[in-house]
Amino acid sequence: MKEWRRGAGERQADARQAGARLARTKLTSARQTSAKLVGALLASAMLAGTGIFATGVLTGCASKNKGDKSDSGVTAGLSKEEIESLASTKAEQLGIPKDKLHEQYKFFLEYVDQVEKNPKLGNLRDFVILLFPDVAEHIKDENKAFYLEQLSRLQFEVGDIDFGGQYYSESDKVIFSSNYYKWTEHDNSFILFHETYHFVDRYIDGLEQSALYDGQNFTYIDEDFTYTGQDEPVRCYFAEEGMADLGVAKTLSNFFDSYYATCNFLTTMEYIYGEDVVEDMLYDRNTTGKFIEILRDLGYDNERIKQTITDFNAYTYDMWDMFGEPVGSFEDVLVDMYEKKIGPDWAKDPQFRYLLYNQTRAYTEARPFTGKYLHHEIDDLAKEELVKMQNRCAAINQKYDVFQQDEDPENYHTAFFQDGQLWISELVWAYDDQNEDVLKLQMLRYDFGSEKIVEQKTVDTIQLPGKMHEDYLANCETDDA
Ligand SMILES: [Zn+2]
Repeated sequence: MKEWRRGAGERQADARQAGARLARTKLTSARQTSAKLVGALLASAMLAGTGIFATGVLTGCASKNKGDKSDSGVTAGLSKEEIESLASTKAEQLGIPKDKLHEQYKFFLEYVDQVEKNPKLGNLRDFVILLFPDVAEHIKDENKAFYLEQLSRLQFEVGDIDFGGQYYSESDKVIFSSNYYKWTEHDNSFILFHETYHFVDRYIDGLEQSALYDGQNFTYIDEDFTYTGQDEPVRCYFAEEGMADLGVAKTLSNFFDSYYATCNFLTTMEYIYGEDVVEDMLYDRNTTGKFIEILRDLGYDNERIKQTITDFNAYTYDMWDMFGEPVGSFEDVLVDMYEKKIGPDWAKDPQFRYLLYNQTRAYTEARPFTGKYLHHEIDDLAKEELVKMQNRCAAINQKYDVFQQDEDPENYHTAFFQDGQLWISELVWAYDDQNEDVLKLQMLRYDFGSEKIVEQKTVDTIQLPGKMHEDYLANCETDDA
């Protein structure tokens, strides 16, 4: 039925998945279920003796510096104008605005060519092309050839799995569940994009690096090292999950679906440090090293840095048995960052207060933060902000009363930056032309100081060209036997 079997050859390094949200289902319950499954996968990778990090099957990064081959391949013999015109036409067919190609027309055609001749992507290859704008925005010229080479290895497969999806870094395989086609379009597409973002993350700056901690210092090594079990591997998995969800939210979905704690943490970091610093960290091959530097700048010693990253990973995957019971909170780190970068008056900053409160409720219900905050003011702040948030939600519901809201009184916790503006969005029910219930996203820009809505829009949950959605469903149904 399926070629895929979970086994020694498929070590579940980078075991990650997107928990998905069923419409009108409590987020946390979905996340708890999925987190358990990730736990099982990571645990099996550990038991197999491979460590969290697998030995890659790549032959190395020898091709990394090959550069652009301007007179070969799919654009050979074409003039600059012809390349641009061809790229524009292709982008238009796929619904990608021309400016989103970032003037990288030749690279776009090479990317499309690589995707189209990859038989392992089935009829879902257009999904990979939709990610091009984000790749184009963040890739360095010298890494393009390497990235294209990896694209030829990417594969999609429908699997009989109990959760949404999985990216297997060793084989560059994205598996998504045949059971999920019964869910909403939003969930299906989101899972596929989330998992494919892990692929983007892994190769966009050359092979991702990890850190080894010997109890005193960190050293950085390429992901394809062989783990000997001597030093402790440290890696910002939390940031990789957050990047996958936030990347989809910012560029395609206007919403994220699963890793709330780490997404909100990264959004708040963006508020404090700015988009450039956070993107520089996330799209770097050494994300862990960059994060370590930021924590070191806060005055944390190496032991505390290691503990902080371990804590964040534990919260992200809800896996305390593997990472140990966390000791610190996301919130205290955010306050330290604010104090270092902006100043001492974090408790008076309305937008930061909202984000910090959001953080306190972003833990899963099963595994909330139960320790004591180092900045004890956070307790009172969270209580005050909860009341404010309930009032805000009530006011929003009243104002936009054509929508039936989720019954959860604390909506609008999905916060992300788009073009420098902080948006909060929530799934709502609206009526379509036939007066049928349809799931939409209500997006708001909010002035938390004056308690006013600055901008509001209602958008489709995820805007895929119709054929792509049909292809997706057809793929699922074929393999659902
Ligand atoms: Zn993931």
